[in-house]
Amino acid sequence: MKRDYYEVLGVGKSASLDEIKKAYRKIAKENHPDVKPGDKQAEERFKEATEAYAVLSSPEKKAKYDQFGHAGVDFNGQGGFGDFSDFADFGLGDIFEMFFGGGMGGQRRQGPTRGSDLRFDLTITLHEAAFGAKKEIEIPLSETCANCGGSGAAPGTHPVNCSQCGGTGQVRAVQRTPFGQVATTRTCSACNGQGTMISTPCNKCNGRGKVREVKKIEVNIPAGSEEGLSLRYSGRGEAGERGGPAGDLYVVLLVKPHEFFERRGNDIYCEIPITFVQAALGDEIDVPTIHGDVKMKVPEGTQTSKIFRIRGMGVPYRRGGGNGDQHVRVIVSTPTKLDERQKELLREFGRITPEAQQRGKKSLWDKVKENVKDAIG
Ligand SMILES: [Zn+2]
Ligand SMILES: [Zn+2]
Repeated sequence: MKRDYYEVLGVGKSASLDEIKKAYRKIAKENHPDVKPGDKQAEERFKEATEAYAVLSSPEKKAKYDQFGHAGVDFNGQGGFGDFSDFADFGLGDIFEMFFGGGMGGQRRQGPTRGSDLRFDLTITLHEAAFGAKKEIEIPLSETCANCGGSGAAPGTHPVNCSQCGGTGQVRAVQRTPFGQVATTRTCSACNGQGTMISTPCNKCNGRGKVREVKKIEVNIPAGSEEGLSLRYSGRGEAGERGGPAGDLYVVLLVKPHEFFERRGNDIYCEIPITFVQAALGDEIDVPTIHGDVKMKVPEGTQTSKIFRIRGMGVPYRRGGGNGDQHVRVIVSTPTKLDERQKELLREFGRITPEAQQRGKKSLWDKVKENVKDAIG
């Protein structure tokens, strides 16, 4: 006894074609011999469902089946559908292509594709970032072959339509199936789906249409650039495929750390050593900036680590409107390798100068000592 086709697919008599397709697709996916090799029960289930689908998806056959049952659509009679065991020889993809028109990866002829974007990390100095620079970089990339204009065909010749697929990029194979002759469509293997063939390949690119080249590109670094700034060069990336546009080139700036200046935003930070005589008596010192040396006044009685700000000596703003500032931390250094006379003068200085005055202002240590004195009376 043959099972009812609706029961086989698990759908109602009023099911739409979509519902029938969906139900069949699910059963076919779960039971196809590709999925469950050697499973006889699955294979039977697959064949049974395929037969049911062949009938119920055809309005004409469905009408006959609804009216006369299995007798109306006799597969093994003169209808000539043949042995269903053939059917399991087709791949799952073929089955879906037959029924659903390429739902499982039938490829179309490929059109133009945009080339890839490229990223180039460019290391520059603080000065180059601050004041801008022109730099030439060398980038290995694939370029449209100039010899053949990207066609891959030798100059004077043209790609011809593929003889295997007639230029469609796809070949139709007519195969005998339990349902009679069914045409399947595959990507043409002769031309890889491109539809064209090159009879005389360009000798520069060997028919690829692209050549690998080291390309020199002049990069314009704007003044006030900072670490991580990305400069976009439209159309300077990899060449496109089949006449597609080239990708973009992104030059990403990396700024080398400077041995003396530290940059934070548009401000510059640095440390300058001064002598304790300069700190005590005051002086005018030379301070290097990215704009060149400037004079800076150190006032009398300057403490170590004091930070002075020099306005406008920082990094220029990229969008204009002046520069950041420079912050100078002065570090008072203690003299070393003193000779006897120098030591004598310092001892003398020490004798005539109260310790608190020598410290300049009350340090945390002075306060701690006072508190301790208070506490112990
Ligand atoms: Zn070429
Ligand atoms: Zn072809």
